[in-house]
Amino acid sequence: MKRKEHSAFVSTNKERCRVCYTCVRECPAKAIRISDGQAELLAERCISCGNCVRVCSQDAKELVRTKDEVERIISENQKVAAIIAPSFAAEFYDVKYDRFVGMLRALGFSFVNEVAFGADLVSREYRKLLLSTKEGRWIATTCPAIVTYIEKYSPDLVPNLAPIVSPMIATARVLKRLHGQDLKIVFIGPCIAKKVEASSSLVEGEIDGAITFLELREMFGEHGIKSDAVKPTDFDPPHANIGMVYPISGGMLQTAKIGEDLVSGEAVRAEGRTRFLEAIKEFENGQLDARLLEVLCCEGCIMGAGMTTKEQEFKRRSRISKYVRDCLKYRNQGQWEKDMVYFADLDLRRSFERDDKRVGIITPDIDLRPILERMGKKSESDFLNCGACGYDTCLDHAMSIYRGLAEDEMCLPYTIEKLRQTNEELEKSNSKLSDTQQQLVQSERLASMAQMATGIAHEVNNPLGVVLMYAHMLKDQCKDNKQLDEDLGMIVEQADRCKKIVSGLLNFARQNQVAFESVDLNEIVEKGLQIVERPKNIAAEITNQMENPYCELDKDQMVQVLVNLISNAYAAMPDGGKLTITTGGNDFQVWFSITDTGIGIPKENMPKLFQPFFTTKKMGKGTGLGLAVTYGIVKMHRGDIKVTSNADLSKGPTGTTFTVSIPRAGRRE
Ligand code: ADP
Repeated sequence: MKRKEHSAFVSTNKERCRVCYTCVRECPAKAIRISDGQAELLAERCISCGNCVRVCSQDAKELVRTKDEVERIISENQKVAAIIAPSFAAEFYDVKYDRFVGMLRALGFSFVNEVAFGADLVSREYRKLLLSTKEGRWIATTCPAIVTYIEKYSPDLVPNLAPIVSPMIATARVLKRLHGQDLKIVFIGPCIAKKVEASSSLVEGEIDGAITFLELREMFGEHGIKSDAVKPTDFDPPHANIGMVYPISGGMLQTAKIGEDLVSGEAVRAEGRTRFLEAIKEFENGQLDARLLEVLCCEGCIMGAGMTTKEQEFKRRSRISKYVRDCLKYRNQGQWEKDMVYFADLDLRRSFERDDKRVGIITPDIDLRPILERMGKKSESDFLNCGACGYDTCLDHAMSIYRGLAEDEMCLPYTIEKLRQTNEELEKSNSKLSDTQQQLVQSERLASMAQMATGIAHEVNNPLGVVLMYAHMLKDQCKDNKQLDEDLGMIVEQADRCKKIVSGLLNFARQNQVAFESVDLNEIVEKGLQIVERPKNIAAEITNQMENPYCELDKDQMVQVLVNLISNAYAAMPDGGKLTITTGGNDFQVWFSITDTGIGIPKENMPKLFQPFFTTKKMGKGTGLGLAVTYGIVKMHRGDIKVTSNADLSKGPTGTTFTVSIPRAGRRE
């Protein structure tokens, strides 16, 4: 079976993958890279143990099918043998074994053989290996995932790999001796790693195809092959004996009659993802003193990733045991012994080669500090070693980032911190956005009011001028009539008041001219403060934070702004308080803020503040034009006015601050 260079037999379904890092955590070979937030299998690192398939709760890891190749082999060749792993009894327990064999023949296989016979032969070789010499420490090579693991990640142990073929290869060699070298052989079993073994260049041409029980079930379905519609037949000879227990953990040692002797410590077995890693590590550093180490990636082949049964481990074991018991009752022991003698001279040797893919060695020339600091790991207490990233330690994680196998985001504490920061920034920009939105609505509303105000002011201004002129003329003519003189005085006074209102409206609507001149802002502030009479119970203070107080603005208009704001501030402190004026600036802007400790502005009034005629003052006390005019003047200067206020004592001291900022250079039209 030929394999494309570095093609993996497991793939990731990106839509299903939720990037939980379980596969990263559970991969004994660290062959899963997280790249752009997606789990990606690295074929050159993968040992095809199928652990990731088993542990993925989202079914995002899928077996790569090779059954099309098998269909092709069957259709193109006369003689094709299916060799069946003994774990079939735990998978196809719902079908009588002779029916199962019949179904395989219905698929087109000319021979259907048990790999368990190969297991019998291989076991004899292990026994011979151990008995031939007292020297040598061996690792059993029946589990292909373990073999690949050692070649890649413990290459110094390659010489310790027992130089014996697997039961699959042994069975293939048996059948080729019996039926000729042109026989095509397809292995069917519970294991994905068998596909890797079958495609290894060191056993090239021995196995033509390898599929899992999952694929076999699919083939039965596709061909519509049902167990009750086929002719029941037995497996083709040679038949197996105790080798049928191989798929149960410890099966090999039992078959080879090598006791896991606790006293002599001759043989030790370990299985499962963590146990096998520990055993290999201890074997490598000499702590595990055994002559034969039988290690399996899964808890026995019955737990292989190519099985579809959902039954638990012990149920599967009992299915195998029962099958073996039943079979051995009618199997011809004498014939088996003859077969074993017949194949005694069959060459069952093989070799292995180093394929060093280790990445975890941290040498002094590798500086992991920048990576660790990036993830907020600066002192010892930051090294949580929580394992959430899929790596045992923070250092292992950093090393994998260094090698391009992992990403910073896999560190949970780091990601949580980053998320918190992003959240904070988002909240800030959100509130900024809503402020800006409110301001926009406000300025739109004020702009439409300004348009109306301009219209009214222009219309009223001319007739008002005429009224004033005639009133003055009449007043001059009626000087002698006291009563008339007084009445006309009243008309003039009220018409003057109307004129001021109209002028205010024009200011609000930015219809007046701005006479820019270079001024000292501090002088203007002081002037504003002098003009408004300060109630005795109010203290006033100016804080100057300006290095350069010079700026360009319309002096009179800005004094008007200050007068308006200071008057309002005094009015808001009927029981006394403090007024603070702060000035400041930079290269581009100058600003002043007026803060009072008054009653504050209720939230619901805030949006209406700058509207003309909005007032909370008693009739005759306020026109509601002060802030509208202020707003107009500030805008005519291309400036900005902001207000913050608290009117709720339960939230802290009440008071208001108006801040006016305007460009330092003014704007000459
Ligand atoms: P007027 O002073 O004629 O009422 P303004 O436009 O100057 O008109 O002010 C409008 C309203 O804004 C005031 O009536 C008052 O309710 C509120 N206001 C303005 N400045 C302050 C302040 N410093 N503290 C509390 N309320 C204020």
